Amino acid sequence: MTATVPVPVRLGRRSDRPGRAGTAPETGPLVDPFGRIHSDLRISVTDRCNLRCSYCMADEDQTFRSHDEILTFAEIERVARVARSLGITALRLTGGEPLVRAGLVDLVGRLGRLGFDDLALTTNGTALARFAPALAAAGLQRVNVSCDSLRPERFARIRRRGELGAVLAAMDAAEGAGLCPVKVNVVLQRGVNDDEILDFVAFGRATGREVRFIEFMPLDAEGRWARDAVVPSAEVVARINARLPLQPVAVRGRDVAPATAYRFLDGGGRVGVVATVTEPFCGTCNRLRLTADGAVRNCLFSDDELSLRDLLRGQGSDDDIALVFRRAVWGKRAGHGIGDPAFLRPGRTMSMIGG
Ligand code: SAM
Repeated sequence: MTATVPVPVRLGRRSDRPGRAGTAPETGPLVDPFGRIHSDLRISVTDRCNLRCSYCMADEDQTFRSHDEILTFAEIERVARVARSLGITALRLTGGEPLVRAGLVDLVGRLGRLGFDDLALTTNGTALARFAPALAAAGLQRVNVSCDSLRPERFARIRRRGELGAVLAAMDAAEGAGLCPVKVNVVLQRGVNDDEILDFVAFGRATGREVRFIEFMPLDAEGRWARDAVVPSAEVVARINARLPLQPVAVRGRDVAPATAYRFLDGGGRVGVVATVTEPFCGTCNRLRLTADGAVRNCLFSDDELSLRDLLRGQGSDDDIALVFRRAVWGKRAGHGIGDPAFLRPGRTMSMIGG
């Protein structure tokens, strides 16, 4: 294994950046000044996790929000209802690890009744086998399961807790419960697991699952991220294509996704790449995030966030909540700026935002 030399990256706020001209529209869809209409909300239900993936969390010194600080299910449900009224059609629950939050099935049931077109969950899979039938019965439609190695020892080294076997069994259980399609998220790091690209491709083709290779983003808690630790998606596609010819899958209408999907020309299914770092897709970004402690964020990499928690716990009306969403969207920048020399890592890491 090649060690990646940690490169210190400055942390800080980007108050030096210019604000947007004009004010957010008070009616109509959630549109930003660049015409991007937002229809996808990721809700983090907790910043806690039972794993300590090396590209995400700190092994020992990870700190967490207190229970009082994170939104209750009733508060999340209310925010989701307002978001639905503003044109959000796709909801994904994430974290931290969403399945460590007690009563998650109850929350899924509440959200399932709000009429989203797509209700999904991103999970590390360690507890999914147990909950899959109840989650499906409560209205969850599909899951993404994170799995960064198909080799048990390496899996344990990268994730620092948990077992590969349980995660693989959870994928079967999810499919058995009808949580389909199961997509498999693989964060690639140079010299750590990039020699498993073709193994994951074979796994995806054998199981009918779409494997999505995600570029390592500067959102880890231990400052390990470095540009040379990123495996560019173009390289991933080229390496797969050299063995198994690929064709890009055309994006239809508003069916935008962070992953660029490819189909195998021999009919063996699909594979995806998420090229956040090397080929940003900000121009089609339609996503918003709600952190576990109630802040609306318009970009993973921006510190510009607006808290809903005081509104929810005070006298805030649904119109006030809607206005916060509109302002958050209107404040969105054209791009995340990772490629800018002046890029600053956001103050929150991935598990504190919700990936
Ligand atoms: N605990 C759940 C899980 O493991 O999938 C959900 C939360 S996790 C933060 C969501 C996704 O973010 C996972 O697919 C994870 O692999 C990815 N992720 C975390 N840190 C990342 C980083 N620094 N770069 C790229 N992806 C990352």
